[in-house]
Amino acid sequence: MGIIVQKFGGTSVADPAKIHNVAKAVIKEKQNGNNVVVVVSAMGHTTDYLIKLAKEVTNNPDSREMDMLLSTGEQVSIALLAMAIQSQGHKAISMNGQQVGIITENIHSKARIVDIKTEKLQKYLNEGNIIVVAGFQGVTPTGEITTLGRGGSDTSAVAIAAALKADRCDIYTDVEGVYATDPRIVPNIKKTDMISYEEMLELARVGANVLHPRSVETAKQFNVPLRVRSSFNLDNLGTLIIGVDNMEIYKPVAGVAADTSQVRILISNLPDIPGTAAELFGALAKNNISVDMIIQSLAVNGKNSIAFTVNADDLDETLIILNNEVKSGEILTDKDIAKVSIVGAGMVDRPGIAADMFRSLADKNINIKMISTSEIKISCLVDKQNANDAIKALCKEFDLESKEIAAVKGDLPNL
Ligand code: ADP
Ligand code: ASP
Ligand code: MG
Repeated sequence: MGIIVQKFGGTSVADPAKIHNVAKAVIKEKQNGNNVVVVVSAMGHTTDYLIKLAKEVTNNPDSREMDMLLSTGEQVSIALLAMAIQSQGHKAISMNGQQVGIITENIHSKARIVDIKTEKLQKYLNEGNIIVVAGFQGVTPTGEITTLGRGGSDTSAVAIAAALKADRCDIYTDVEGVYATDPRIVPNIKKTDMISYEEMLELARVGANVLHPRSVETAKQFNVPLRVRSSFNLDNLGTLIIGVDNMEIYKPVAGVAADTSQVRILISNLPDIPGTAAELFGALAKNNISVDMIIQSLAVNGKNSIAFTVNADDLDETLIILNNEVKSGEILTDKDIAKVSIVGAGMVDRPGIAADMFRSLADKNINIKMISTSEIKISCLVDKQNANDAIKALCKEFDLESKEIAAVKGDLPNL
């Protein structure tokens, strides 16, 4: 008997009727002859609501208590889904992160999973249960409840699939699969039948929030075949995400995404001496603050400027740290920014792609504030108000709206 891990996001379990719909999809997989573990998110916008609630109590909620609060959202949905499955005549049991043994680092609000105990999962599967696991949460070795970061239930599902050596992990959501960009921004965009882990990872990292980046990282690391598919159209197989070997790439750009969750910080008049950047970024790293794009200007009169971006959620903490670290110099913040990126394995060694991207933005009169590149990605920081126009322009530029030509070709494996 194979093992399939399924994951259903917040919109898929938003109300009792949808929970019953999910129960049907889960039971169908069980009736296909598989053992099924199903991971669920909190219902609808519960997590947003809980965050708002905390902010109404205090401006600066303690991160341990935030995790305690946010983890309750998923606990509600696992119990309700287990009840729905039972009411449809099948054995089911719900488990929270602690009960499973989803062990994480000792970091609140963005912990990484370090281990998943499989003994209880195996035992309950052997007894014929469908297991319903709370996504997004874990527990530290000392028993503290942690969460994995917004959207983290995807990572819970893939990590459980890896730990159980499952045949496949299916991420059910409110769209039919992975598209070349967010279908809510470009409605006639092409759905991708198959995409490589590498491209999907970059797309997720640069803002395609259909998958939590760490879920793709984990799938790639443990070779878990991943599908993104619709909870509302179970017949559509969605998008398969697998290793790149059996794909022939013939479009340079596979996708476009925008990340509007970052803020830019500019520090001017810094001393141009060795160690300035090391100290600044060292202090941020010590506090688990990830920095994304960085630009340092040419020094003038022994002074220079550094601009960088961090996640908006980390802004307050970043400013506290910088105010301690920066002895001379002025700190400015810019919240109205978006990072627009193109991603594609086919852009390796094709220098013209960057120029095409910049030209296409210039033609729309969109100013570029910062640029960063990797082998398969180019990102431009623009004003937030230009993000959607930039995405539309880039989809046209790189021919991502046409239905006829896929970014990759290859026989779809029978997974
Ligand atoms: P869930 O609650 O199921 O986890 P999410 O809201 O996290 O769902 O992710 C699904 C959403 O991701 C879609 O509704 C879509 O608007 C958005 N999205 C962004 N980029 C893409 C993309 N390239 N392909 C598909 N969906 C995308
Ligand atoms: N409920 C969490 C969130 O809204 C985790 C998830 O949905 O994946 O971010
Ligand atoms: Mg999600």
